[in-house]
Amino acid sequence: MAERTPIVLSNWKMNKTVNQSLDYLANLMRATDPKSSRMEIILCVPFSVIKIMADKINGPSLISISGQDVHWEQWGAYTGEISSPMLADVGAKFCMIGHSERRKYFGETDEIVNQKALALLKSGVGPIVCIGETLEERQLGLTTNILEKQLRVSFNRFSASDMEKTVILYEPRWAIGTGKFADSDQIAQAHHYIRSKLEKLFSAQSAVRTRIIYGGSVTPDNIAAIWKIEDVDGVGVGGASLDLSNFLQIVNAVSGAA
Ligand code: PEP
Repeated sequence: MAERTPIVLSNWKMNKTVNQSLDYLANLMRATDPKSSRMEIILCVPFSVIKIMADKINGPSLISISGQDVHWEQWGAYTGEISSPMLADVGAKFCMIGHSERRKYFGETDEIVNQKALALLKSGVGPIVCIGETLEERQLGLTTNILEKQLRVSFNRFSASDMEKTVILYEPRWAIGTGKFADSDQIAQAHHYIRSKLEKLFSAQSAVRTRIIYGGSVTPDNIAAIWKIEDVDGVGVGGASLDLSNFLQIVNAVSGAA
């Protein structure tokens, strides 16, 4: 794991005004020091605050600002949508795609995720691809079949170097926003499976270099157990990251400062 820079990602979902966002960022910047730890803190925020937040980060920082979704086309008649060149233009470093809430409420499929991922790469924005099984799929013993299909389809037409610019966010759908988190064995098995699949689809080097992070009801109480698991390169945090003091406890556990 030594080579892979750990990630702590915060998914704000549809939350926070401009003032609340700037306040959170200012306090997070004060509490983190790029000289004393090697990690990335990725804030996936609403479109309305990406630029104003990204503009505040003008020196060395662990923090970067990212999107939560993107359209697959570059420009055109897609009312209400935002494209990857627009995200790049406002300073987004990464963008999440395929989040389970997008799949559930907006019908996002692995094929759409693939088109969005390719569009992001073209604009120099790193894709953060969310994958994970439903509770029913897990209970039917289909977890690896689902992960296999999600990886194969989402990364169709990817080169090995595209893969290394991408982050995989493994979020079992039954663990998101539910307070139920996967146990250490379930997380270890899924991450191990994903890494071995990357080796088959791309190369041993891509498998070693690509960051795979876990999300689903991560909190200050369970981060220590999750962060110990082999093959986990960081975490994605939704609900618990809205409160900065909770989020900082998770950041500190990953940076070793806790
Ligand atoms: C998420 O939205 O990606 C997420 C993991 O949410 P939560 O931490 O609230 O389960």
